[in-house]
Amino acid sequence: MSILLNPKKYRDRNYPDDRTREIMQMTIDWFEEKGLARQKEQYHDREFCSDFQEFVTKEGIFETLFLPSGYGDDPNQYYSTYRMYEFSEICGFYGGAYWYTYHVSALGLNPVLLGDNEGAKHKAAAKMKDNALCAFGLSEKEHGADIYSTSMKLTPQADGTYLANGSKYYIGNGNVASTVTVFAKIEGTDEYVFFVVDSAHPNYELVKNVIDSNQQFVAEFQLNNYPITDADITARGDKAWDDMLNTINICKFNIGSGATGIVTHSFYESLNHAYHRKLYGNRVTDFAHVRRLFSDAWLRIMGMKLFGLRATDYLRVASENDKRYYLYNPIMKMKVAMQGEAVHEHLFDIIAAKGFEKDVYFEQAVVELVGFPKLEGTRHVNMALIAKLIPSYMFMPAPFEEIGRITDNRNDEFLFKQGKTRGYARTKFHDFNIAYNTLAHLPNVKVFMEQIKAYQEYLMVSGEGLAKQMEDFDYLLAVGELFTMVAYGQLIIESANIEGVSDEIMNQMFDLFIRDFSTYAVGLYGKPLNTDEQLEKILKMIRRPVPNVEEFEKVLNEEVYSLVDEYVQNP
Ligand SMILES: Cc1cc2nc3c(=O)[nH]c(=O)nc-3n(C[C@H](O)[C@H](O)[C@H](O)COP(=O)(O)OP(=O)(O)OC[C@H]3O[C@@H](n4cnc5c(N)ncnc54)[C@H](O)[C@@H]3O)c2cc1C
Repeated sequence: MSILLNPKKYRDRNYPDDRTREIMQMTIDWFEEKGLARQKEQYHDREFCSDFQEFVTKEGIFETLFLPSGYGDDPNQYYSTYRMYEFSEICGFYGGAYWYTYHVSALGLNPVLLGDNEGAKHKAAAKMKDNALCAFGLSEKEHGADIYSTSMKLTPQADGTYLANGSKYYIGNGNVASTVTVFAKIEGTDEYVFFVVDSAHPNYELVKNVIDSNQQFVAEFQLNNYPITDADITARGDKAWDDMLNTINICKFNIGSGATGIVTHSFYESLNHAYHRKLYGNRVTDFAHVRRLFSDAWLRIMGMKLFGLRATDYLRVASENDKRYYLYNPIMKMKVAMQGEAVHEHLFDIIAAKGFEKDVYFEQAVVELVGFPKLEGTRHVNMALIAKLIPSYMFMPAPFEEIGRITDNRNDEFLFKQGKTRGYARTKFHDFNIAYNTLAHLPNVKVFMEQIKAYQEYLMVSGEGLAKQMEDFDYLLAVGELFTMVAYGQLIIESANIEGVSDEIMNQMFDLFIRDFSTYAVGLYGKPLNTDEQLEKILKMIRRPVPNVEEFEKVLNEEVYSLVDEYVQNP
């Protein structure tokens, strides 16, 4: 059973209302009516996606998706991570520029929604009626991830107003957004502040697009004595800092769903091409290595999708006492996006020259996906967050009520009230063994559980010295990759149980995950910092899957190759 997005067979995903169903369907229709040829023409002509801007503005799509209850015109308005997941995946499926425009709009609006200024919230919501695009002005040219060094300044004036001066770099939609949230410091102090500007204001100077593609506009802009009043300020001090981090927390989730959409489309395109291409009298899909590559690619996408759906559930139940999303969210951002890159590697090896052709989606998809692991904190920054949670997750489980799949119309309220960004390492998790035990009868899940056991033993012999070793970021990354696999596999199993994914698929998926885990273990083994005791335990993590040729064939033929010609984008 394939749970992958197929816009031509868009299943009813139990949306709680017609409006949600309508949004998803009309977006798919909009893209399919445009067709691949026009889409590629706009991509190659570097045409800013203003047609998408017009479409989402006219249909009020971002208002419905982005606004929590209490804002906008609809009395039944709610914010649902599930809807965001679905929409993000659809946008990614059709092109990075559309996804990026959507993503940075969500990022841009959220500091307002998280802030203390009610007037600014209603004003921003109202502005979306004329122009739904927003922008998030955080990054600066000289400082990258070092937000502490922000040099944009807000200078208080004698009459109680302010003047903003400084520049921002890498700001998506910075060419057109009517709500641009800007992170800055109050002049002469280290006090942070968030305020709103409009890109159409004369004191807002659009310097350039810093990337070589006008389909998405990643702006450098300059504020020159831009007048600001208290009505434009959304938060100050620690609250502004927290709002900045919490905005990224909510939105980096889109990276995983967007990446899943991109590679799903690449997969269909590659499969159709390989199946219909005959070499030496055989189909390309018949080559032994191609069969393995397609199987791995599909299993990886299934994993991305299952993980994403499950992580969505945890974001939706987040509360003051349940911050498990602190772990699942950076994994959604980092691991899922990087799995997408692995999928493209498999597929590109199969379709080879076809993947360079200008008329196919693939050549665009490969280029666009590369950015995903690098946005909203690089792989390293996200891994630094993830690694802090190792002790709590691996050794100190806490009881939690089991949760199911959440697709209802609840308002994901807590995301807008996340509060302080401290106490991260003390986050509690439920026992990962609960999930693994449900599939312990599968030979490859069993081997994977033994690998996890070996990893736990490695952590135990490492003792307190590990914290010191992990000050070396190169070492931390290697330890973190293995840890990530444990949580990634756990959520995938939970999700597979909910979706009713077959044992055969899951056993094949863990065949792949055993190989991945072993590869990461070899990586860790090579690090100079290891002690002899650690080396011994790392060797135990290197395992081979239990081969099952019949099962491999079954999954390949009945699941993967049955998708041939199931999706072809309108020409
Ligand atoms: C296409 C694109 C669109 C973007 N859109 C926006 C946007 O709309 N709004 C916005 O505000 N920004 C945006 N950005 C900026 C993006 O978020 C930055 O790329 C990000 O902040 C990292 O900065 P940097 O790439 O300059 O890397 P740097 O900060 O220069 O990092 C260099 C290296 O140091 C590592 N490093 C840095 N800090 C740490 C740490 N604490 N621990 C471990 N390693 C670390 C990094 O992993 C990286 O390998 C965009 C960037 C791109 C490329």
